[in-house]
Amino acid sequence: MVEARFWNTVTGKKVQCFLCPHHCMISAQKSGICRVRTNQNGILVPETYARVSSIAVDPVEKKPLYHFFPGSRIFSMGSVGCNLGCYFCQNWRISQASPLECPLQDVSPEEAVKRAMEENTVGIAFTYNEPFIWWEYVFDTAKLARKKGLKVVFVTNGYIEKEPLRELLPLSDAMNIDLKAMDDSFYRKYCKGRLQPVIDTITMIHEAGIHLEITNLLLAGLNDSPVAIERLVEWVYNLDSEIPLHFSRAFPAYQCNLPPTPPAVMGRVWRQAREKLSYVYQGNIAADEASSTFCSSCGKLLVERSGYAVSSVGLQRDRCRHCGKQVKMVVK
Ligand code: SF4
Repeated sequence: MVEARFWNTVTGKKVQCFLCPHHCMISAQKSGICRVRTNQNGILVPETYARVSSIAVDPVEKKPLYHFFPGSRIFSMGSVGCNLGCYFCQNWRISQASPLECPLQDVSPEEAVKRAMEENTVGIAFTYNEPFIWWEYVFDTAKLARKKGLKVVFVTNGYIEKEPLRELLPLSDAMNIDLKAMDDSFYRKYCKGRLQPVIDTITMIHEAGIHLEITNLLLAGLNDSPVAIERLVEWVYNLDSEIPLHFSRAFPAYQCNLPPTPPAVMGRVWRQAREKLSYVYQGNIAADEASSTFCSSCGKLLVERSGYAVSSVGLQRDRCRHCGKQVKMVVK
């Protein structure tokens, strides 16, 4: 049995978890909000350690990461559970499931690294459900992966306490953070969480110099107003105007019956964000121009994307081959 990190005993057999800002108090034989950290007779246990719901070799663009080894493939894995409860969750079948509600296979850290290498991938991405609640497993696997020269990627909601994040940062190469809205009431109403911890996480990752991209799931009528987009874009701009920002098209899922985000809304938001930010993309929608990378200085095409076909037509390493501008992009 693996024991969890970041918890202590409260009284008797009751424990408190400090991995994420919920700070759950957990009675014996119960789990926290994330469903996967369980009090077993007074000891907090990460129930999903080495237990995997989904595994695949994906294009790195699918994470989405558009400025991190473009065109490469990454060994991707996830488990079950999440510490948020977004009513529009696009992956709810695994994120809102407990370990008993979903078939899981055992994949040790050694096995994950071996398979990532056999598949000749750039590295391992912890994705599909929330990887930070899988802390002990991602930490052990990331350590091994790094020793073998693999890159380590997290696709996360960013809802984690500072100390556990600080320990993961030296093992991380890239992160995509889902920033749902620059609005605390949105987080409280629709996600069962708060905005500030996510902002703190993004800021820490940026300060640590780890490659960072941000995704916003665009929900028409909920977080797409010009004012809401202005607030989001302004915040990203003040942090770093060259952080790639992805607007992802939402489809009806979980408890949300909104129709798919209309292409006109995707286009309007993309154009608004491009007025301030250097790299803005649309995702989950066929939009070649809005998924390609253009030089923020001379405007020439740098990376052409059509679906998951990727071609670096205008790059010379990480510079625009037309005007020489350095592009915020990690390349081989
Ligand atoms: S990681 Fe899970 S158990 Fe721990 S505080 Fe967060 S939701 Fe609660």
